[in-house]
Amino acid sequence: MSDLRVTVWGEYRHEHTNKAVADVYPKGMHEAIADGLREGGIASVRTAWLDQPEHGLTDAILAETDVLTWWGHQAHNDVDDKIVERVAQRVLEGMGLIVLHSGHHSKVFKKLMGTSGNLQWREADEREIFWTVASGHPITDGIDEHFELPAEEMYGEPFDIPQPDTLVFISWFQGGNVFRSGACWQRGRGKIFYFRPGHETYPTYYDTNVRRVILNAVKWAAPVAGEKINVRNAKVPLAPITKG
Ligand code: ZN
Repeated sequence: MSDLRVTVWGEYRHEHTNKAVADVYPKGMHEAIADGLREGGIASVRTAWLDQPEHGLTDAILAETDVLTWWGHQAHNDVDDKIVERVAQRVLEGMGLIVLHSGHHSKVFKKLMGTSGNLQWREADEREIFWTVASGHPITDGIDEHFELPAEEMYGEPFDIPQPDTLVFISWFQGGNVFRSGACWQRGRGKIFYFRPGHETYPTYYDTNVRRVILNAVKWAAPVAGEKINVRNAKVPLAPITKG
């Protein structure tokens, strides 16, 4: 059992308006993602969603969150800028952030990346093959050289992100497109992982490999103990500074 404290955030709107999504995720997408983490041995997994007060991301909840996962799509603009600021600040202080699928356009991801997050897409039930390009990286633990999903939405390059610190997966789609589908960055003390799959109409968050990658990513993004960034006038030097 891991003593990590994870908060799984979901927009939780499609499930109320699109029967196809509710059929795949009767308890909501966030609950399926959370179940995958619980199954993987994370003892403390809570969920939060957009229509809760403060989007379920109060100061108190964020203070008790080591890693936050984020799935949003149609309502990115309904996320309060104050909460975005609060989440981004926590990331800079060391909270891990796992951004899933259409979260590439979330305010918090764009803020932390500094780019538009734009990409190409197509909904055509395509086969997707993920290739591991960072063998030995903790996020690939237990994952083969490649794995596949029988049908997903296509996301294709160009993907407007800063060059990742580490690229972990690339995806190939039946229609010929490729995509950087698993990418890591550090911002301040916080680790960020973007993971592509998870269109709302597919049962992607029940897939064994997808669940394993998210579990690995949550563990990888856990905060690291150590000295905080200490802003000060370092008036007294460590060693004497000889003049002349
Ligand atoms: Zn999608």
